Amino acid sequence: MADNYLEYKMEDMRSGRLGQAKKFVPRKRVAAAKQEGEQFKKIASFTIDHTRLEPGIYVSRRDVTPCGDVITTFDVRMTRPNREAAIDPKALHAMEHLVATYLRNDAVWKDRIVYWGPMGCCTGNYLLVSGDYSSGDVMELVRSAMRFVAGFEGEIPGASARDCGNYTFMDLDGAKEAARRYLNEFEAPSFSLQYPDATDKASGQ
Ligand SMILES: [Zn+2]
Repeated sequence: MADNYLEYKMEDMRSGRLGQAKKFVPRKRVAAAKQEGEQFKKIASFTIDHTRLEPGIYVSRRDVTPCGDVITTFDVRMTRPNREAAIDPKALHAMEHLVATYLRNDAVWKDRIVYWGPMGCCTGNYLLVSGDYSSGDVMELVRSAMRFVAGFEGEIPGASARDCGNYTFMDLDGAKEAARRYLNEFEAPSFSLQYPDATDKASGQ
């Protein structure tokens, strides 16, 4: 029933009877899937063994959009999850403003940056880039962004009531300290570009 419904909509779309905005019917699909007894799949990033994860840069996923574009999601892991303190959310918020600003001004990468933002567990950030890239491709970009944060002085870009939803929720010193620690990790032998036991040779190096 649900698939027929979707097929019907797709046919409508192909024949131009539906506008672009009516293309997808996610709520009905989810409800129908539940009725049919389908289980939600564990998403890929929950299958990584976080107890063995070291600071590094990992390819979390590569997605192909319906338009055919590849989006690479990097796991920019800054701490050892569950083995050392996570980063304070205020520090991550300040870092988000600074790194997002930095990346979107980078002469080479600015047009390929889709998103930078904190992980909910506060042990790192996600970087989304338009294109099919490996961890090594963005390593120097991430490192230079962290140098920018570590040395930043002055007003945090966008830290105002007009520009941000919680502009006093920021810790610049905490962001600088987290960036310095992460920069030290770049030099450590444990710094990694590939998830533990990753079998997908295409992810990372
Ligand atoms: Zn903000």
